[in-house]
Amino acid sequence: MGVVSLGMPAPRSAAPTTGPVALPSERPAVPGLVDSFGRVATDLRVSLTDRCNLRCTYCMPAEGLPALAREQVMSREEIARLVGIAVADLGVRQVRFTGGEPLLRKDLAEIVADVAALDPRPEISLTTNAVGLEHRARTLREAGLDRINVSLDTLDPDTFATMARRPFLERTLAGIDAAAGLFDLVKVNAVLVRGVNLDHAADLLSWCLERGFELRFIEQMPLDADHAWDRAAMVTAAEVRGLLGERFALEPDEEPRDGAPAERFVVRGAGGERLGRVGIIASVTEPFCADCRRTRLTAEGEVRDCLFAHTETDLLGPLRAGASDRTLADLWRLAMWGKRAGHGMNDAGFTQPERTMSAIGG
Ligand code: SAM
Ligand code: SF4
Repeated sequence: MGVVSLGMPAPRSAAPTTGPVALPSERPAVPGLVDSFGRVATDLRVSLTDRCNLRCTYCMPAEGLPALAREQVMSREEIARLVGIAVADLGVRQVRFTGGEPLLRKDLAEIVADVAALDPRPEISLTTNAVGLEHRARTLREAGLDRINVSLDTLDPDTFATMARRPFLERTLAGIDAAAGLFDLVKVNAVLVRGVNLDHAADLLSWCLERGFELRFIEQMPLDADHAWDRAAMVTAAEVRGLLGERFALEPDEEPRDGAPAERFVVRGAGGERLGRVGIIASVTEPFCADCRRTRLTAEGEVRDCLFAHTETDLLGPLRAGASDRTLADLWRLAMWGKRAGHGMNDAGFTQPERTMSAIGG
């Protein structure tokens, strides 16, 4: 397997920029992260680590990926500096920590607290596989974590072990239980894989509704290390709607979507009673790129303007070389100005990004 297929970082360009950055003349002189199609990114995803304690088949290879060296990964202080610039200078209003598995960072609560102390204070959320969350949820909540998304593809221990390649269902459920007692709304992310957990979708929804969780099914994207993604075999949003419709009545949610990736439905039972909500994220078959408000920072401090980008802009190198906040902010602005109109997944010439989901930060 070559370096590229292992999801290793793409080669970086030249020496770090510490001096002034020339922004394109056609770019409007606005502080925010505007792109050439007029979209403005206000939602930042920060990957805290490329490491993970699971090996989900749609994300990582069975043998794992070569881990970044400790010094390649942003420190707590570096994260606080870059997120601080995003919030104070670039108009970012929502910050989500992800990975890899963000709970593997021992300093996660301190990182959350640093961001919670920013002015203006952004909304802070976490995406996690919940393994070990049982012992961390309270500290994270107290540090300022506002929202939590947990990933759970099935309630069947054997299927969990097949999909995650680790027998950790119980630990995941214990983590979710702990979160449920502390957060107003727990969102659950699930990826459906044909022949593996597709038949579990309705049961998983039932389980989430009973507990007041909002389940979101995410269409599987071509971001797996094994390059096994198959457009023809993937489970589509339309199929999920049909499948859930056999057991529940789904009504399009009236609440404005407001740039959110999930199409939301109110779920009703046989007697018309409201049971809760479900979301479907149709990144492949019904892309929402025109409304995208995301910017991303990888664990090594590289800006990505899209999950499917083939280029990145290094901020950590310049930061370590002494760049000013102004320079770092301009580098970030320049990176986002070049964002493409769409991810191109449905184009004939589409090629999968060099990095896997775990190495980008999902
Ligand atoms: N480890 C954490 C977790 O699993 O929640 C955070 C990182 S993970 C990359 C973030 C989300 O991406 C998870 O909900 C996971 O199910 C989803 N994901 C991973 N690979 C995916 C793929 N190929 N297509 C769609 N979603 C994927
Ligand atoms: Fe780890 Fe999350 Fe990827 Fe699963 S989806 S391997 S838990 S990073």
